[in-house]
Amino acid sequence: MGVVRLYDDGRVELLADEVASSVEQHARFGGVVPEVASRAHLEAMIPTARRALAASGLGLEDVHSVAVTAGPGLAGALLVGLASAKAYAAVLGKPLYGVNHLAGHVAADTVQHGPLPSPCLALLVSGGHTQLLLVEDLATKITEIGSTIDDAAGEAYDKVARVLNLPYPGGPPIDRLAKQGNPEAIAFPRGLTGPRDAKYDFSFSGLKTAVARWVEERERAGEPIPLADVAASFQEAVADVLTAKAVRAATELGVGTLVISGGVAANSRLSGLAGERCAEAGIELRVPRPRLCTDNGAMIAALGAHLVAADVAPSELDIAADPALPVSTVSI
Ligand code: ATP
Ligand code: FE
Repeated sequence: MGVVRLYDDGRVELLADEVASSVEQHARFGGVVPEVASRAHLEAMIPTARRALAASGLGLEDVHSVAVTAGPGLAGALLVGLASAKAYAAVLGKPLYGVNHLAGHVAADTVQHGPLPSPCLALLVSGGHTQLLLVEDLATKITEIGSTIDDAAGEAYDKVARVLNLPYPGGPPIDRLAKQGNPEAIAFPRGLTGPRDAKYDFSFSGLKTAVARWVEERERAGEPIPLADVAASFQEAVADVLTAKAVRAATELGVGTLVISGGVAANSRLSGLAGERCAEAGIELRVPRPRLCTDNGAMIAALGAHLVAADVAPSELDIAADPALPVSTVSI
């Protein structure tokens, strides 16, 4: 859970960001188990909220409004969060904002770098989503201009990590291993970059299969697997496609700022290559620190603060979680 303070000029200040993670419980299954996630949410909710408030130095009586993820995500986990937030809002008599988790990932950057210029382009790369978003107003107007047609970038990282016998989640260990490898060692495919392909959409399923096949063939032949080279070459393919498409979209749409968010934005090569290509194209690049890239409560609190600042009407207390909430619905 996160606590932020909103200033009159629209800035948000981070007062507390307490993250409870069930990632260790999921790690032995190699991915998120919905039942485990719901139960972990239930157990962590009140203690985490208490810790965040204590860390912020504020009391419950100081709370101005409550923001919570209404979707998209796993139904069970969303329900636990929503029920808790409704209880806080009802007991405190404060407005409730049911917000979009993906818009929250974009809002994370404002905690570190201040309000977003309008318009800006957001590359959202998380465990379940890979999207290019035109953000005209973070509180009210987000338009999806492209997305993955199969796997999300983070999902590809997690699946390739499995192939390489690396732990879950796969992003951090692949990122580390790739630093010792040659990114040009293996020419893995760049999905959807042909002249007739949808120019702002992505595809990572072919890349994941190509890595698995490459590794299997070497194993069958009894050859050693150059793990660092595989990791570096895979990572290069992901970063290459993501940054090429994002910079192309920003240039074609005449947008001067690119913000990258979601867990994969923590990737060192993605931010490095994006930095080079944005500089060449004269585009300002904003990437939040890794802690703000992966799931956190501060990003939801920040988005809530932007809704308050934009005078968006609060949610009703009987709103339902929407596991498939589209990113264009910033709040419900
Ligand atoms: P969504 O937001 O789509 O519901 P999520 O909340 O599960 O998905 P995030 O917490 O934003 O996803 O990100 C988790 C993903 O980020 C995982 O797939 C993980 O492997 C990936 N990731 C984390 N750190 C890195 C890194 N350094 N490099 C690449 N990927 C990373
Ligand atoms: Fe997320």
